[in-house]
Amino acid sequence: MKILVTGGAGYIGSVTAERLLDEGHVVTVFDNLERGHREALDPRAQFIAGDLRDSAAIERALIQTRPEAVVHFAAYALVGESMEHPEAYFGNNLRGGINLAEAMLKAGTRRIVFSSTCATYGQPERSPITEDTPQAPTNPYGESKLMFEKVLTWYQRLHGFQTVFLRYFNACGASEKYGEDHDPETHLIPNILKVPLGQQAAVRVFGDDYATPDGTCIRDYIHIADLARAHCLALVKDFTGAVNLGTGDGYSVRQVVDMARRVTGHPIPIAQQPRRPGDPARLVAEAAKAERVLGWRPQHSQLEEIVRTAWAWHRTHPRGYGK
Ligand code: UDP
Repeated sequence: MKILVTGGAGYIGSVTAERLLDEGHVVTVFDNLERGHREALDPRAQFIAGDLRDSAAIERALIQTRPEAVVHFAAYALVGESMEHPEAYFGNNLRGGINLAEAMLKAGTRRIVFSSTCATYGQPERSPITEDTPQAPTNPYGESKLMFEKVLTWYQRLHGFQTVFLRYFNACGASEKYGEDHDPETHLIPNILKVPLGQQAAVRVFGDDYATPDGTCIRDYIHIADLARAHCLALVKDFTGAVNLGTGDGYSVRQVVDMARRVTGHPIPIAQQPRRPGDPARLVAEAAKAERVLGWRPQHSQLEEIVRTAWAWHRTHPRGYGK
């Protein structure tokens, strides 16, 4: 298939583009490189530098390449930042998304796999979280993703789009070539690994008084190699709708730190902090639907493999890409 990947120079986009190319697809990456990295561009992909907020740019890219499908990652993705700059999130994630959908219409591309998130559920009362759990985001990031799910649902009804929303839980791990490089880094695993890299004395742990067995928050960590495979499957299956991508298992912050101690052989001291605002105690996917509709089951998301692959990448890229 000819596929356009928006945000293909980002963390999950780069690994998905790599996998699509490995499977023999023809890939064009559309990315503004604002938060993506030139070094994360797979050299086998065609690259178009452009911004989704520029409707003419995405229209040109789609008309020029006329792909059979779009895999849409390009977005802002920091919860805290979205609380300070909601306009940036609605501008990029929602307006940029609408520009993409309109350009797809003009180019005759109807198939889209959209990078959504468990942040669209907010703080659900029940765990594990099924796809029909009411969606009530607690921040503009999650809201912008939910709004674009709704836009695509209408484009499906009115224009015959075939849409899949993949709602990721906690993306982590690395491929051999591509890994996680955010600035600022807010995610747990790369922040833990800064300690054995000698860049931080201790890892900050936010909150130890949650209603969980060890008092720290529980998350469902999913390896980006598994996420990448799910996108490839979503492109070829005859399915539309929402799918959670998680393992169904949760690990606490302390369990993740313990695994990092084992994998790196470093004692990794903890600097206990107050709770981080907005963190739900437990977010774990009900993962059965992904298996039913996509034939997908995680293969690389044992916590040990997640931390080992992340550690391998950060050791060879201690300051991230190209720094
Ligand atoms: N966390 C932490 N220290 C950090 C980063 C994160 O204790 O340096 C905690 C955070 O409070 C949450 C969990 O680790 O409970 C996962 O956070 P992350 O930002 O990786 O993902 P989120 O679940 O917020 O999307």
